[in-house]
Amino acid sequence: MSPLFKNKVAAVTGAGSGIGRAIALGLAQEGAAVHLADRNAAGLAETAALLRAEDAGAFITELDVSSETAVFEWIEKIASTSGRLDAAFNNAGITGPAKRIEDYPFEDFQRVMAVNLQSVFLGMKYQIPLIKRSGGGSIVNTASVAALTGPGGMSGYAASKHGVQGLTRVVAMENAAHGIRVNAIAPGWTETPMVVANNQQNPAFAALAQNAIPAKRGGRPEEIAAAAIWLASDAASYVTGHMLTVDGGMTIGGGTLTPNLERIIPCQTSMKQ
Ligand code: NAD
Repeated sequence: MSPLFKNKVAAVTGAGSGIGRAIALGLAQEGAAVHLADRNAAGLAETAALLRAEDAGAFITELDVSSETAVFEWIEKIASTSGRLDAAFNNAGITGPAKRIEDYPFEDFQRVMAVNLQSVFLGMKYQIPLIKRSGGGSIVNTASVAALTGPGGMSGYAASKHGVQGLTRVVAMENAAHGIRVNAIAPGWTETPMVVANNQQNPAFAALAQNAIPAKRGGRPEEIAAAAIWLASDAASYVTGHMLTVDGGMTIGGGTLTPNLERIIPCQTSMKQ
């Protein structure tokens, strides 16, 4: 069988770690040349080395995905270096703090929205024209099971990921007649550096989450990447505007991760303040 992305050009944000790295590697194994973007230069270099070991083209750009100028210049660089773009994965993200809304700093809310949601808007805004000029293609945005649920303590994260689903649907609608499909993946608990760091920050929440997964384990980044790559490929040629949940069954029962919220994330803001 011929590789799914032979002679194709792909772009991945958050490619310096976790799910983004696994997507980039999977694309390389399917024949793509991959443009890797992340704010973490060391992570980018490691991912590029993995891709080059597969004899794949790997192009690095260190950027902040929430900056319009940086995203615009990155897509211009893809156009001038590779001349086309067939598949884009807007995947970079952060979790933000675990705090009830009364205690959640506004600046943290703004930062989570900028990195997780504004970035997806900016990515698609500049990717769509290049994909159109390339004769069509597809985009996959990384949402989360937090786009389907209301995990207590994660107002910024859940709001941003619900927003990613909304943007995905709008841009799918706008581009379905132009040969561009736009979908999202909603990973559940996936064992990447982001989750490992969170587990250390909040072990009680981590234990609850693991227990709430019917599969009784976290996902591997490659398992999420496989779903994202399938969505972006011609194998999913009639799928658009869809958010594919990849969560070991976490949301089957409603995805309630925080039944003991009062104990795990107690309110710190007194009524007197
Ligand atoms: P990760 O921390 O391993 O990787 C995220 C990458 O994004 C990092 O390399 C980081 O440097 C990069 N990044 C963060 N902010 C950036 C910015 N402003 N500009 C450029 N790059 C930036 O985390 P991950 O688990 O691989 O997360 C990838 C995506 O998957 C995120 O959108 C996350 O919300 C989503 N997700 C993860 C899980 C999970 O359980 N791991 C679950 C649901 C959704």
